[in-house]
This record gives sequence, C-alpha cells and structure tokens, in this order.
Amino acid sequence: MPGREWSDYEGILIVVEQRGGVAKKVSWQLLGEGRRLADKLHTHLSALVIGSNVSALAKEAIYRGADKVYLCDSKELENYRTRPYSKVCLSVIREYKPEIVLMGATYTGRDLAGAIATHLPTGLTADCTQLDVDENRLLLASRPAFSEKMLATILCKQYKPQMATARSGVFLALPLDPTRTGEIISVSPQMPEEEIVTQVLDFLEQTERVSLEDQEIIVAGGRGLGGPEGFALLQELADALGGVVGASRAAVDAGWISHDHQVGQTGSTVRPKLYFAIGISGAVQHVVGMQNADMIVAINRDANAPIFKVAHLGIVGDLFTLVPALTEAIKAQKGNSTSVPIAL
Ligand SMILES: Cc1cc2nc3c(=O)[nH]c(=O)nc-3n(C[C@H](O)[C@H](O)[C@H](O)COP(=O)(O)OP(=O)(O)OC[C@H]3O[C@@H](n4cnc5c(N)ncnc54)[C@H](O)[C@@H]3O)c2cc1C
Repeated sequence: MPGREWSDYEGILIVVEQRGGVAKKVSWQLLGEGRRLADKLHTHLSALVIGSNVSALAKEAIYRGADKVYLCDSKELENYRTRPYSKVCLSVIREYKPEIVLMGATYTGRDLAGAIATHLPTGLTADCTQLDVDENRLLLASRPAFSEKMLATILCKQYKPQMATARSGVFLALPLDPTRTGEIISVSPQMPEEEIVTQVLDFLEQTERVSLEDQEIIVAGGRGLGGPEGFALLQELADALGGVVGASRAAVDAGWISHDHQVGQTGSTVRPKLYFAIGISGAVQHVVGMQNADMIVAINRDANAPIFKVAHLGIVGDLFTLVPALTEAIKAQKGNSTSVPIAL
C-alpha cells in the first residue's frame, strides 16, 4: 500500500529450524548473514526458536549473533506442524514487527514461510542464494530464476516484513561465541493440542538420501567417470577420507547416480572443508554449487578445463590412474588410526 507508514517495523528476525533440539545448519548460517545485514542497517537481530525443550538453542542463537531471542517452548510444538508453528510466528511478527524475516529454504521452512506470508499478507522470495539491503532499507533477495538461467533480484517495496527463504550452504555461520549476551523473551504457545488438526504419528528418517549440505568432505565425479562403475572408485576414496560422494548433473542425467548427490544450481549448494572435482569440467552451473568450499582439488585430463580456475590444487591426468593411487596412499597414511590427518 503506497504511502503506508512502516517506521514502526525494525530489526531482522531469523526463524530457527530444529528437529529434536538440533538446529539446521542453514539457521545458523542465516544468523551469520542476518548479523551482517543488521549491522549494515544499524538495527538489531533477533531469532525465533520454536519447539519442545529447546531453551539451549535460544542461548546458542545468542552465541551465534542474535541480540534477542523469542522462545516458544511447549510439548505440542515438538514436531513441525504448519498451523501451530505459523500461529506462533504470526503472533511474534505482529507484536514485534521485524522489517525483515528470514528462514531456511528447507521443506518445512518453505512451507512455514508461505503460510506466514499469505496471512500477513506480505511478499516472500523463496530459495535465495544472495541477500543484501539497499539505502532505502529494502531487502535485495536474489534467487536463480527461469530454470536457473538467470539470477533475479526481487524487492518487496510496499509491504512489511520483507520475507525470504535462503538455501543452505550459501552463507557463513558465525563461530560460537559464549561471551555474547542477549535477551531471551518467552512466548506462549498459541494453540492447545485439541485445536490442532494434524497429528504426527511417527517420524521416519530418510536414511537412503544423502544430505550433502552438512558434509565436510565431498568427493564429486562427473561425466569423465564414464559410467556408474567410475563412482565405485570415488566411493572408495570417499570412504578412505570419511567423506561422501557428490556428482555433476551430467553424471546424474546419465543415470549413474541419484539426484540427491548432485551439486550445483539445480542440486545442492555445498560448503565443505574439502571438495574433490574428479572428471568434472567446471561448468558455471556446477561451480556455483561448490565454489565456497575451503579447499578444492580438481583432477582432470584436460589442462584447460575451467574447473582449474576455481581449484586450489589441480592434477592434470587420467582419473582412472590417479584416484586408485590416491585412495591407496590415503589408506597407507591412515594405517591403523581411524581418522586421516588432513591439513586444511
Ligand atoms: C539450467 C541448467 C542447470 C544446470 N544445473 C547443473 C547442476 O546443478 N550441476 C551440474 O553439475 N551441472 C548443471 N548443469 C549442467 C552443466 O552446464 C554441465 O553440463 C555439467 O556440469 C557438466 O558436467 P561434467 O563436468 O560432469 O561433464 P563434462 O562437461 O562433459 O566434463 C567431463 C570432464 O571430465 C574430463 N575427463 C574425461 N575423462 C577423464 C579421465 N579419464 N580422467 C580425467 N578427466 C577426464 C574431461 O576433460 C571433462 O573436463 C546445468 C545446466 C543447465 C542448462
């Protein structure tokens, strides 16, 4: 609504997602990014922690950058359910009026954000990969659009709060700082169990699916592997290093490995300590998903492959010779110890 007065809206709110008292990494990453944006806007950063027995997370949110935490701790909030969770969020947003609200672009984060935005109502940009603010305090929410072919920066000029969900692995979490202090404000649950229409009967962990976002070591392979048997070589290297296997889209499209292993624009965005790109050319759509790894090692027989532009360490050669040799060398170095001493 043009001309509407928004000056009573201030601060940035991060909705922290947790399961069983363990926060999603993306929530801490968003607190890190939220801190940067809040400092730029000279405003405060708050976090909303919802769940059962989650007061430890409220403290952790302060240690990770929040000035204030709204804590809604209650038995009926143990499992994520859209209505009670969105009701808590809506009441906090209506009472404390943050100018920006951010949460992870996880399955539940996207569900919750949509439910809240339609009720307020306000604008929501989903699945952002870049966030910033301009001189008019507008959130610049950027996300890949049009089948990931372009990056669109979306603004919400007329409504508050400005809302966005963001991908995991894109932003940096702040290191835990137990000397930080902040205020924890208890918020009462808004819905008694009798009024909640959904019930969680059981929770089945999807054990088959690999969650690349949370991995410290990823050994990724591409079309250069020549077939699914090439991934067996990578699996051995990954096992020796205590990591998991990732893949380029070419390898996934060829049916050599499932999509949950895919790294890149239409796969996972990862930020491991160590990333091997083996038989991967380094197309921009792949690189955007892994370029923030602390250490990138590329193995490719083509010295001109673009992957060498982002690699910290590059080996030009045939992967079928190099990978088994590397695996053997790591196993030999490992000896009887259970972890490999890797200097990162
Ligand atoms: C909209 C859109 C979204 C996309 N999203 C993604 C995405 O999320 N992730 C992604 O990865 N791609 C994505 N792509 C595809 C991307 O553009 C590339 O096609 C893809 O990344 C190429 O995969 P690759 O590097 O495995 O294959 P190639 O480009 O074919 O590269 C294979 C490499 O292996 C090397 N090689 C071959 N044999 C050997 C050997 N024996 N030893 C050593 N090296 C060898 C070659 O020199 C070559 O560099 C997307 C494309 C589009 C249009």
